[in-house]
Amino acid sequence: MNINKNKKPHVLCIPFPSQGHITPMLKFAKLLHSKDFHITFINTEYNHNRLLKSRPSSSSSSSSSSSSLDLFEDFVFETIPDGLPPSGEDVTQDIPSLCESLSTKCLFYFKELVTTRLSSPATFIVSDIFMGFTSDVAAELGIPLVLFWSASACGLMCYLHYNHLIQANLVPLTDESDLETKVEWIPGMKNMRLKDMPTFIRTKDINDIVLNYILKDMERVPKASALVINTMNELEQEVLTAMSSIITLPTYTIGPLSLLSKQLLPTLGSNLWKEDMSCMEWLAGKKASSVVYVNFGSVAVMSKKQMVEFAWGLANSEHEFLWVIRPDLVRGDTAVLPPEFLTETQGKRMLTSWTPQEDVLKHEAIGGFLTHGGWNSILESICGGVPMLCWPFFAEQQTNCRHMSCEWGIGMEIDEDVEREEVERLVRELMGGEKGKEMKKKVVELKQIAFRGCEVGGLSFAHMESVLNDVFGLRG
Ligand code: UDP
Repeated sequence: MNINKNKKPHVLCIPFPSQGHITPMLKFAKLLHSKDFHITFINTEYNHNRLLKSRPSSSSSSSSSSSSLDLFEDFVFETIPDGLPPSGEDVTQDIPSLCESLSTKCLFYFKELVTTRLSSPATFIVSDIFMGFTSDVAAELGIPLVLFWSASACGLMCYLHYNHLIQANLVPLTDESDLETKVEWIPGMKNMRLKDMPTFIRTKDINDIVLNYILKDMERVPKASALVINTMNELEQEVLTAMSSIITLPTYTIGPLSLLSKQLLPTLGSNLWKEDMSCMEWLAGKKASSVVYVNFGSVAVMSKKQMVEFAWGLANSEHEFLWVIRPDLVRGDTAVLPPEFLTETQGKRMLTSWTPQEDVLKHEAIGGFLTHGGWNSILESICGGVPMLCWPFFAEQQTNCRHMSCEWGIGMEIDEDVEREEVERLVRELMGGEKGKEMKKKVVELKQIAFRGCEVGGLSFAHMESVLNDVFGLRG
């Protein structure tokens, strides 16, 4: 391959170091690469090593023992340390420790990378909003900064109002009952209670690490040259309109990125865990819409009691289910299910530690998704036309869940103190009840809207063209 790298815009893409942020950023990077950009994708060392290990052994790129993820001369991976002490393999990192380390150490590592280790000077930095230190480096080195938001616009709108919650004396939280307080003054957002705001506001300490990390990131937003969001206008129109009067940056909605980036560099995987492909064989023999898919994402943890309640609720619903149980899903323990549950559900379930989720949700055997409400999971469920039950864990999952159930009509919420009877009742409703049917109809409509938006002539497609032309100056 003979590439004159200097002629191509060189874009540095840096996601927040967790699964739900890496995957959409990689999709965006692939889109840029397909338009002849030179990409340097920057992971933390810890995640980079996990990506190397989790690659499918059949990868056409190179042998799985290769120490490189690079497939092309103009799409390369670089790393910076996350500054944390070494942790065990495949362990979900502690978010407050990660935020503290990123904010105190990574500006130095990132600047060192940008100034001394790149094969050609960076033309643009595309940074996750939650990697705020990149804004200081971009300003100092005079490199245009494009912010990337991989989650919902409603979630971002809440973070943009954290300061107002402090001014309204709702944060720090002095009394748990305040969580029921209505928060009806955020433009474009209806039916919100304090408990529907991203969970990082639930702090009793005004010096809380994550709260302050986010406040600082939000302050830096106006310094960027553009904002790209992995959502679709049709889903979040009201909040996006309201946001446009707060953020005056050019803002582009290009979601769902999984549709827009379909077929691009499929060999560049982004999973930190190794996928268990045997679940696809298990699904192959099942009746249409008969299986409940259960997955709480890459960060959520629960207590042993909560896990047992979910287990018996699923068993008692009498539906078949495919359940992803990461080894660290249970707080402070390895996830182990009661032997009687395992015997009783034998032949009706598959348990696994990581699936190719996008493919699972597209499979016709899946009738419903019990999820934690992570934004990627919601978009993937919409793309599969699968209605949801939501048990939000943290971050903006509470906000997503509220919107999914109260605004979009494609999901139902499970109470924080989960009980088996509630799980059983809601799973039955999801899979065959009147409400389940209504949700299915709405989610299929949204799926069609999502597909149309990502085709030529659709809004997300057009916005991506604008990103290329107006932000990155492809034509001009
Ligand atoms: N994922 C997957 N297989 C699994 C579990 C998760 O591929 O078994 C992917 C999922 O498709 C999604 C991402 O991991 O793209 C999780 O992101 P999300 O925003 O839903 O939640 P988070 O993990 O950030 O809480």
